[in-house]
Amino acid sequence: LKEIKVTLWNEYIQERENPQVKKIYPSGLHRVIAEYLNTKTGLDVRTATLNEPEQGLPDNVLNNTDVLIWWGHVAHDKVNDALVDRIYRRVLDGMGLIVLHSGHFSKIFIKLMGTSCSMSRWREGDENERIWVVNPGHMITNGLPLYFDIPESETFSEFFNIPQPDVLVFISWFKGGEVFRSGCCFYRGKGKIFYFGPGHETIPVYHNKYVLKVIYNAVWWANPSEGPKILIDGGPPSESLEK
Ligand code: ZN
Repeated sequence: LKEIKVTLWNEYIQERENPQVKKIYPSGLHRVIAEYLNTKTGLDVRTATLNEPEQGLPDNVLNNTDVLIWWGHVAHDKVNDALVDRIYRRVLDGMGLIVLHSGHFSKIFIKLMGTSCSMSRWREGDENERIWVVNPGHMITNGLPLYFDIPESETFSEFFNIPQPDVLVFISWFKGGEVFRSGCCFYRGKGKIFYFGPGHETIPVYHNKYVLKVIYNAVWWANPSEGPKILIDGGPPSESLEK
C-alpha cells in the first residue's frame, strides 16, 4: 500500500507569543498532531509553518502532498493569494484538505466553499462540547463511540454559513444550548475536504484521543482516489458517430 503523504500546516504564532498557548503546545500544536500521526503506519508526515520560506509550501512540498491539514487563526490575511490559488488547484486535482477549527475563516476554505464561512455565535466559555456521530457508516467515525465530550471547549454555533455539506459526520452540542455542524465533508473536483470544529488554542483539544482519532481517520478518507485523470479534450465522441 502506498504511504499517504501528509503535510500539517500551522500558522504557528500564538504558541510562540501567548504563554497560555505555549504551555499547552510548547513546540506548536502541529507538533502534537504530527507526533500522534507518526505513531501510525501508512503515513509519511511532515509539518510546515507560515514563517518558513514560501510560507512552508513550496511547489515541491505542495505537489508531493496527498493530504494537507490546515490550522490558522490570527494570520489568515498573511497567507499569499498565489499560495491559496496553488492549494485550490491542488484540491480540485485531488489533494485532500482537512481544515481545523478557526481555519473556517482561512482564505482557502472560503474560496472552496464560496460562502462567508462565518458563524452566528461563538464563545470562549470553556463549556462542555458533546460531539455526536450522525453518520456511523462513515469512515471518519471508525473506532469512535456514538458521542464523545470535550469538557472545556470553545462554543461555535449555527448558523454556520457554509454550503450544505455533501456528507455531515458530526454535530456538536454545547452546554449553553448551541449546536454546530462540527464535522462536514465536501467534494470539490477530485478533491475531498473535511472541516472539523474543535481545536481552540487555549484548550488542550489536540491532546484528546478522540479528536486525534478523527484527524487520523480523516486523513484516510481525504486521501486522493485513483480515479480518472481529468482531461480537457474538447469533447471528441466516446462512441463512433458513423451510421
Ligand atoms: Zn478558537
